Amino acid sequence: MELEGKVAVVTGGSRGLGRAIALELGRAGATVVVNYLRSAEAAEAVVAEIGRGRAVQADVRVQEDVDRLFAVADELGGVDILVNNAGITRDGLMARMTDEEWLDVLDSSLTASFRTCRAAYMTMMRKRAGSIINLSSTSGLRGNSGQTNYSAAKAGVIGLTRSLAKELAKRGVRVNAVAPGFIDTDMTRVLPDKVIEGAKELIPMQRLGRVEDVAPLVRFLAGPGATYITGQVFAVDGGLSA
Ligand code: NAP
Repeated sequence: MELEGKVAVVTGGSRGLGRAIALELGRAGATVVVNYLRSAEAAEAVVAEIGRGRAVQADVRVQEDVDRLFAVADELGGVDILVNNAGITRDGLMARMTDEEWLDVLDSSLTASFRTCRAAYMTMMRKRAGSIINLSSTSGLRGNSGQTNYSAAKAGVIGLTRSLAKELAKRGVRVNAVAPGFIDTDMTRVLPDKVIEGAKELIPMQRLGRVEDVAPLVRFLAGPGATYITGQVFAVDGGLSA
């Protein structure tokens, strides 16, 4: 198993894409720190299924919580793989968007990724190895009406990824981004049927993605097959952004 002996931190690992990614990294042999905000039972179930690791409640919008999350990773040997997956949507047209809706989405995804990358930085530098995978989105690549906050956050994640990749490349630390399209999770299940049907018409493969369509790519990027890949953004979207 290619990730045996590695410690992975997956933010928002209790549900949806993060859960699938945590399980996939676990199947590859990693010890996984499964972070969550509220879903304690679900996060504990992910750890139980993997059979290694810890479930850690931490709000990635809060610096002290991020410190506590990485202290757990340190207890397990220090982070080798960081997956910045936690994220939220608070959609709406800009004319009615509040500062709070804007900032909450930016904080949960972009600023949280900054804080977790900063927390992992010295450990990975010391190990002269590491893989960071940041979850962006098709919305970050192409923009989406009603998602100025989310698209800005996810485009920002791409800028963070490319810059940090350049900063850390000579230290053996790789940083990449994955940009899913419409994936069937709680995040998209709240959308009205007509939005989902409209999306399917735009997707060349004419279906929503499954979490299992994304997780194997993250496993690959974390592992030894990807050692010469850094600063890249990989779309997993059924051809939507092609
Ligand atoms: P989801 O089903 O809504 O799950 C979100 C996860 O993030 C949950 O585990 C949640 O924890 C956690 N979370 C949210 N805010 C957090 C916070 N402040 N601190 C810690 N954890 C937090 O979302 P998803 O669809 O799997 O999306 C995962 C990532 O992929 C997000 O970054 C999203 O933007 C991105 N993405 C999703 C899609 C899609 O179509 N689904 C497409 C492109 C990109 P709790 O369970 O404790 O609430």
